[in-house]
Amino acid sequence: MLTKVKSISSRRFSGGCLCGAVRFEAVGVPGKPHTCSCKMCQRHTGALTAAWVEFPKVAVTWTGPAGAPATYRSSDASSRAFCPRCGSSIGAIDDAPTTALLVGAFDSTGRRELMPVAHSYRAGRPRWWCVETKDG
Ligand SMILES: [Zn+2]
Ligand SMILES: [Zn+2]
Repeated sequence: MLTKVKSISSRRFSGGCLCGAVRFEAVGVPGKPHTCSCKMCQRHTGALTAAWVEFPKVAVTWTGPAGAPATYRSSDASSRAFCPRCGSSIGAIDDAPTTALLVGAFDSTGRRELMPVAHSYRAGRPRWWCVETKDG
């Protein structure tokens, strides 16, 4: 009867690192889908531009054998998260009750809810590097 109603809480996302030691499940609507080309994201990921989404901390469960990812304190308000075994970048765990996840770590990167709507620190990317977002 309710099969046509897809409630917000039924949205589930999963992902993880290269080796599989760190796995996550996130529930709900991904917040602030955006790309970022700041130097910190570049160093953290090795990529010129990182794609991010945010979830409330309580909406993210670490389901892999390593549990929660290792972290590196990268700023006054946030720690960068990575797999302690293979080194894959996973996201950022903020002091605020927010966990940001790198879209590249998701199992299904093509899901519409993950599409960036804005690009932070656009000027940080090389001129020859093109990134498509809804805001251009
Ligand atoms: Zn790993
Ligand atoms: Zn950034």
